[in-house]
Amino acid sequence: MSNLTTLSSGSQANGYLLQAVKDQLIIECGVPVKECLGALFYDITNVRAVICTHKHSDHAGYIKQYQTYFDVYSCQEVADKYDGVKPLKPMTKYKFGGFTVTPLKVPHGDAECLSFIIDHADIGRAVFITDAEDYPYSVKGINHLWVEANYSDDIRIEAMLNGAELRAQSQNHMSLERCVSVINRLKSPELQSVVLLHLSQGLSDAEGFKKRIFDECGVHADVAVKGLAVDLDKDEF
Ligand SMILES: [Zn+2]
Repeated sequence: MSNLTTLSSGSQANGYLLQAVKDQLIIECGVPVKECLGALFYDITNVRAVICTHKHSDHAGYIKQYQTYFDVYSCQEVADKYDGVKPLKPMTKYKFGGFTVTPLKVPHGDAECLSFIIDHADIGRAVFITDAEDYPYSVKGINHLWVEANYSDDIRIEAMLNGAELRAQSQNHMSLERCVSVINRLKSPELQSVVLLHLSQGLSDAEGFKKRIFDECGVHADVAVKGLAVDLDKDEF
């Protein structure tokens, strides 16, 4: 059975485990490696690689721990910061066991940040997008779309009018409104799962976000919270 398990998602820590039948891929190094090993039941024989989007500590903070067990791949900026991290060139295909990973650059303030197109025979095509103001690409045939919905403009404006000090954290992140347009641009008849990533603690509303995605995109979305496992098997649909 194939699935995407969320170890953690949000500005505190990010970690995801992508499991095909005989291949596993770890995405992000923002949770202590022990938590990830626990989710793998301490069997790492099928882990093909760890891929990390960018240098911020909620995504890369525990890279050194992961390097004890795995090969870690990330953008050039992270490779320059941590000895032994292998740099990924955007627009290049990488084979990790049964996975083919194609990184594409996304805008995230001053940080170099990658999104990933992930192809696997058991899963089809998945696209992983986080910490991105936008996703300016058209990718065809997506079966699974995992995309940031950090904050809502509506909630942000309301909070501002109520005198809240808006944390700078949501800057350089994807709004729900942008997320809607990205999903509508990328959705296709093959789309099977949508998971919303990295919701802001103060400027989001999980149930409201899911409803808005359903109303405006016509697709059911899950929200990534610790322990969520989304089924990805092709023949289940
Ligand atoms: Zn970031």
